[in-house]
Amino acid sequence: MVQARPWQLGYVVTYALQVTEVDPITKNVLSAVCCMCKYHGRELAPGAVRKCKQTQKFKFWSVPWCTDLMLQHNKEQHPLKWAEYEALLQGEKKVFFATLISRNNALYRYFEIDGNMLEFVLSRSIVDIIIGELMFRPDDELAEIEDEDPDIIVVSRSANIAKLRRHAMSLFKANDDADDDELRAYKVKIKNVKRFQLAIQFVLVGMSFKQVAVAIGHVQRTLNSAKLIGINDHIIGQYIRVLVVVTLQKIAFLLQHEDVWAFSLSFDGSKHHGTTFFDVRIRIALGGLLFNLHLIAMPHFGRHTADNQIKMLTTLLGALYARWQQKLLNVAIDGEKTNMGHINGI
Ligand SMILES: [Zn+2]
Repeated sequence: MVQARPWQLGYVVTYALQVTEVDPITKNVLSAVCCMCKYHGRELAPGAVRKCKQTQKFKFWSVPWCTDLMLQHNKEQHPLKWAEYEALLQGEKKVFFATLISRNNALYRYFEIDGNMLEFVLSRSIVDIIIGELMFRPDDELAEIEDEDPDIIVVSRSANIAKLRRHAMSLFKANDDADDDELRAYKVKIKNVKRFQLAIQFVLVGMSFKQVAVAIGHVQRTLNSAKLIGINDHIIGQYIRVLVVVTLQKIAFLLQHEDVWAFSLSFDGSKHHGTTFFDVRIRIALGGLLFNLHLIAMPHFGRHTADNQIKMLTTLLGALYARWQQKLLNVAIDGEKTNMGHINGI
């Protein structure tokens, strides 16, 4: 028999919950989310083999507050984390989630990296315009080649750039099953999922592509794992391009969702190895959740004028979602002078 009780403040710590909605008039709690789902995700019970894909939806609770079900959910969906949590003192439980980032704000949540092979179907505009044009940095890549082999005589710069672009984009293959569907124009197959997963995790901790290649080489030799053989920094660059496209596509799907009527952008700038980057964050509300995502750090070539920034931004948004102008609600900037040029309020 399931127990039904009114909301109690103690549920927050006892069942690892976070209040998500309060009645503005009565102040009664209307909804609370499972922090285990929000910050750690659901687990597979030790030794269990799952045949179908496990949901990673957050569990929300509301009236009637069934504490038996909350307990059951924690034990079944978060067996290891819940055991760890239950063993803590009251004070430790209160700060258990304090420094964690919600899985909704963490992009790795949007990738499926289990299984023997990964396959992505990708949009033409995101691949061609954002990756092939906005993010592609021929000067850097040419400089790298010339550094590696100073004897190379650059006969034709444009031919070299075209070759580099082909090389950089070589993982993106035309999708023959797409029937001219622009949203499914490219296909990427990752056959070595463990290597892909490891490369992404190393990049996520801030290692350079070259460091990642060396680190995976060490792992390969230590574990004597044939699956990790043959990686280099160019392959990692390709993996990251795929990762960026998949990420942008997931954000584009959120923007297209019929329940999303508005989104907002915020801008900032940063510098890395002499290149200025135009940082864009995006906030989208969907299904009662506010997604606060880092959209992109675009290398900023040419002069940093408002005109150039507008052009870059409209190209980016156009490639991401053609109807962006109908949903853009507001734009926030950090007060940088070039952002305050004669074109204001994009
Ligand atoms: Zn949960």
